[in-house]
Amino acid sequence: MRTQEPGRSTHETNDGGFRPLFPLVLTLDMHGVPHRWITWQHACYYYAKNQVAWTLGENAFTVYGGLNRTTGQRSEITASSIIAVKGKAMAMKSFNQVPPLNNRELFHRDRQLCAYCGGMFPIAKLTRDHVKPFSKSGRDIWMNVVTACRACNEKKSDRTPELAGMELLYLPYIPNRAEYLILTNRRILADQMEFLAQHVPAQSRLHQKSA
Ligand SMILES: [Zn+2]
Repeated sequence: MRTQEPGRSTHETNDGGFRPLFPLVLTLDMHGVPHRWITWQHACYYYAKNQVAWTLGENAFTVYGGLNRTTGQRSEITASSIIAVKGKAMAMKSFNQVPPLNNRELFHRDRQLCAYCGGMFPIAKLTRDHVKPFSKSGRDIWMNVVTACRACNEKKSDRTPELAGMELLYLPYIPNRAEYLILTNRRILADQMEFLAQHVPAQSRLHQKSA
């Protein structure tokens, strides 16, 4: 992707979120472990500070800056879609951390399918269901939550699936860092997706999606 004179870097989306006009850049540590998404501005900063160790992505974009007063030349930085940032192996620690639990990522983990009726619903119609109810000391963690439609959530109420006579159609799991990065970015480039998917465990629902 090639572009000129970036203006605003985000615009509001229909679902109330903010989507970058420029794709986000995926950073890796020196060992190639996925770290996080950064904006094109942040990527330019790494390039300008000579902190980009190597690049992997196929997609690149060029950002044009101001004119150099002495030479009259326009500055420009061409960034890759995947960059390894110099420094210590910072990524491994965060890679092994349990990612924060948010409804949006939870619903994406579960492919927006209700765990009880199997129906697919828009995000706005989904709820976070605690398999072991919150009121029965069920915890608010990835391993105890599934996506449920409002009707099923109300029907299940404050009961376990067994007591409610409702069968779980799939099991909860903790997404690893690579999957979490996929879940958080709504506009992943093909090469970024390909790279991250290699770091996602085989049992992830993400692979079922692409299958
Ligand atoms: Zn349902």
